Amino acid sequence: MEIERHEYDVVVIGAGGAGLRAAIEARQQGKRTAIVCKSLFGKAHTVMAEGGAAAAMGNVNSADNWMVHFRDTMRGGKFLNNWRMAELHAKEAPDRVWELEAWGALFDRTKDGKISQRNFGGHEYPRLAHVGDRTGLELIRTLQQRVVALQQEDERLHGDPEAYIKVFQECTITRLLKDGDAIAGAFGYWRENGKLIVFDTPAVVLATGGIGKSYVVTSNSWEYTGDGHALALLAGAKLINMEFIQFHPTGMVWPPSVRGILVTESVRGDGGVLRNSEGKRFMFDYIPDVFKDKYATTEEEGDRWYTDQANNRRPPELLPRDEVARAINSEVKAGRGSPQGGVFLDVSSRLPAAEIIKRLPSMHHQFKELADVDITAEPMQVGPTCHYIMGGVEVDADTGAADVPGLFAAGEVSGGMHGSNRLGGNSLSDLLVFGRRAGAGAAAYVNGLAARPQATEEAVSAAKAEALAPLERTGENPYQVHQELQRTMNELVGIIRNAQEVTEALEAVGKLRERAQGVGAAGSRIYNPGWHLCLDLRNMLLVSECVAKAALIREESRGGHTRDDFPGMSADWRRKLLVCAASPDGSGVSVEEKVQPPMRDDLITLFDRAELKKYITEEELADFDALVK
Ligand code: FAD
Repeated sequence: MEIERHEYDVVVIGAGGAGLRAAIEARQQGKRTAIVCKSLFGKAHTVMAEGGAAAAMGNVNSADNWMVHFRDTMRGGKFLNNWRMAELHAKEAPDRVWELEAWGALFDRTKDGKISQRNFGGHEYPRLAHVGDRTGLELIRTLQQRVVALQQEDERLHGDPEAYIKVFQECTITRLLKDGDAIAGAFGYWRENGKLIVFDTPAVVLATGGIGKSYVVTSNSWEYTGDGHALALLAGAKLINMEFIQFHPTGMVWPPSVRGILVTESVRGDGGVLRNSEGKRFMFDYIPDVFKDKYATTEEEGDRWYTDQANNRRPPELLPRDEVARAINSEVKAGRGSPQGGVFLDVSSRLPAAEIIKRLPSMHHQFKELADVDITAEPMQVGPTCHYIMGGVEVDADTGAADVPGLFAAGEVSGGMHGSNRLGGNSLSDLLVFGRRAGAGAAAYVNGLAARPQATEEAVSAAKAEALAPLERTGENPYQVHQELQRTMNELVGIIRNAQEVTEALEAVGKLRERAQGVGAAGSRIYNPGWHLCLDLRNMLLVSECVAKAALIREESRGGHTRDDFPGMSADWRRKLLVCAASPDGSGVSVEEKVQPPMRDDLITLFDRAELKKYITEEELADFDALVK
């Protein structure tokens, strides 16, 4: 069987914001670059992002700057973040947004013509640059337009628009190929006809997004099966923070066919409130001690904040997502939920109908079309949905390099930036900042190579045999295994966890892994989703094992990891990362603890002692005292 073969300097896997920004950078630095994506070009999660991109431009409140953004990001992540990434992100996000504007993005404006910025959970000032509630669409449109502009330039210069940057859409990568320790290529198949393809390349940038399809209730779409996480693990890279999963507080709960679909946080940022079945704004009962001085304690103060932010504290509906998701979970469990098992999110009694339609056009349309609910006239019913993974490939903050030579990662597939919990809006800016850095990192790596690594024929044959195996057996139906995995993860490693349930989940995942060895797909290689799922299952099982193993080891509750048998945050655990690696014999995943490097002096002194005390150990506090003396 012929295998199609291509040679590139840099291959970017994923065409969301991170992948496109990385590819643009690599091409701008003169590298022949391929963009490979599993779905149609333009259909990535980035397109679905509604709220906006967080960047401390200070357009709406001039008190905002990178230091305030850095502090908010570290607080949101409960101080577990890779502080260097949080620093780079806060400093560079405004430039990346302005760059998008220069490339043609049309953001909403303030009255005086600047890029408008909206409020979002956990951000002290209005900070999200946005285009209504369709920001991700504009971001992708602009980046794609930039790719086309570069292709037009290549046509002029080289007579071939695809000479330096080419898109391979509906093409799924199933293995990274190596030469000794170093990356030498990537192996995959075309979804349409099942033909096989090899990219020979010394540098791969992973930008494959999230893992949500390991859970039943999720905002993620079909392609988010943790492929990049698994490809990295299998190539010898490490994953960190895998126990931290963000359950977005507001997914649709009804009708069942659309359960999990996201209801943007902008609904709350623009004035929407959460109520239980008794009509109570319950979030006032759930303000944790670490945030007590930053949030309003009465409805009157919370409401005043929307028009006078200088003299009032923000309403608790805008607490970080992990806090709101847990609060909704508790209300539903206490029997105060809505008829369909969520709570009420009401914007209809808070804003005029015309204003709702202007500010939240997609939400208005989504509820009307999918649930026959008019959000200008009645409340929505919402509940938590698996949305985002904070964990991912451990990378160097400045270059996006993983610890396998030639492997880079950016965006949701990378770990560290968001610590234990991501603030809304910090993903779109993360993609731009670290996409650019990973593209530059890959280009610099290629420049420094004395010789190009070559994938061995054995590696290609092994990848081919693995890819075709499910077609060669009439084994168990992969959908059955997938459904059981989703249920296991949702029920036993969901928002609230404990040792007994996570242990049960690990046993179940182990058994499912054995069953997955035998799944098979009837039919040919032409557009065969059963076959594709057989291949995706390997990735979802590996990722689920990482999540469950790390969740069992971390005996504390922090951000997107809540253990009801260890309800408090532990300063000792804050210093530690859990690092997942594939076991050398390929039998599964091993997890080790690693101590994080202490925060740089000029960054830690941006915080008050009183705040740090809530998070760091006595020993670290003594170092801080010595520093500021
Ligand atoms: P994605 O945009 O997820 O792209 C991943 C790409 O990888 C896709 O092209 C996919 O086809 C490809 N891929 C995956 N596996 C393979 C493979 N094996 N082979 C080849 N290609 C592969 N964040 C914000 O900051 N603000 C928001 O307002 C916001 N709203 C959101 C709303 C929704 C509904 C969702 C789901 C997420 C939202 N987020 C938001 C989060 C944010 O959109 C994502 O975290 C972010 O877009 C991820 O971008 P990415 O570039 O890392 O990957």
